[in-house]
Amino acid sequence: KSLGGNTFAFFDPVMESVALSHARLEVDLRQAIQSGQLELYYQPQVSGGSGRIVGAEALLRWQHPQRGLVPPGDFVPHAERTGLILPLGQWVLEQACVQLAAWAQQPAMKDLVLAVNVSAQQFKATDFAEQVLATLARTGAQAKLLKLELTESIFAGNIDEIVGMMNKLKGQGVGFSLDDFGTGYSSLAYLSRLPLDQLKIDRSFVANIESDNNNVAICAATIGLAHSLKLKVVAEGVENEAKRYFLSTVHRCDLLQGYLFGRPLPIGGFEDLLRSWTPA
Ligand code: C2E
Ligand code: MG
Ligand code: MG
Ligand code: MG
Repeated sequence: KSLGGNTFAFFDPVMESVALSHARLEVDLRQAIQSGQLELYYQPQVSGGSGRIVGAEALLRWQHPQRGLVPPGDFVPHAERTGLILPLGQWVLEQACVQLAAWAQQPAMKDLVLAVNVSAQQFKATDFAEQVLATLARTGAQAKLLKLELTESIFAGNIDEIVGMMNKLKGQGVGFSLDDFGTGYSSLAYLSRLPLDQLKIDRSFVANIESDNNNVAICAATIGLAHSLKLKVVAEGVENEAKRYFLSTVHRCDLLQGYLFGRPLPIGGFEDLLRSWTPA
């Protein structure tokens, strides 16, 4: 229509190839779940006070047979649009709980907390709490070592149902962290209603705290806000000593995550890092 009433347009070849690649992605992703192409990487989370590794965030990777290692930003949004995020998310949860149960057998790893990213769609499924509890029971993982990372997109849903679901899980010991805090539709009113344990400062606010006074203010205020609400606070994207010093030594940020301590690693690499770790 935009070309005028009488024009007949053939498929735009660029559009078509995008559509094709999406269809392809969907087929490939279904395959990936079934044929073991998915893998969790583990990025250390360090205590600001002690410098010890106290946990990790599980981050999804796709080992694609042709395309190599695909980062989640290239397929998680698509999985969310197509509903594939439900089986994908369940796979992640299962895998994370299997890992927690394995760590429970090793004295040096038995207290590690594992943070798992959960999409709003997963969280909206009416049986989400039951699924999580069933997965914990099946794998033998301890609920108190599982931390679910939610994003502010859950606020678009029914807040009473969300609070109910969270309380059901919290009653069993599962923890909650609000990921990418301040980048979405956060409402301070929700912050006090949700039974959260943790706020996670987004990497974009940490990125240039050495030079950007506004981000300095946002990070300092977020840490203060979290502590006033009796929540712990985690900073992501801690890439150098200056950021660590500012966030942890000056502002008492509880936990730190970033390339300064370690990149996301396959399980073997993460466990090696843990064994060789000496708190700075
Ligand atoms: P996120 O949950 O905010 O995860 C943090 C991202 O920041 C990760 O990217 C991590 O590799 C990256 N990062 C951590 N420290 C640094 C640093 O010091 N510098 C820089 N430049 N980057 C750092 P990744 O692994 O590519 O994941 C991107 C996003 O994909 C995640 O953001 C999360 O929203 C999503 N995602 C990852 N795994 C899953 C999953 O299992 N389920 C769901 N629903 N989403 C996932
Ligand atoms: Mg996260
Ligand atoms: Mg994050
Ligand atoms: Mg982020």
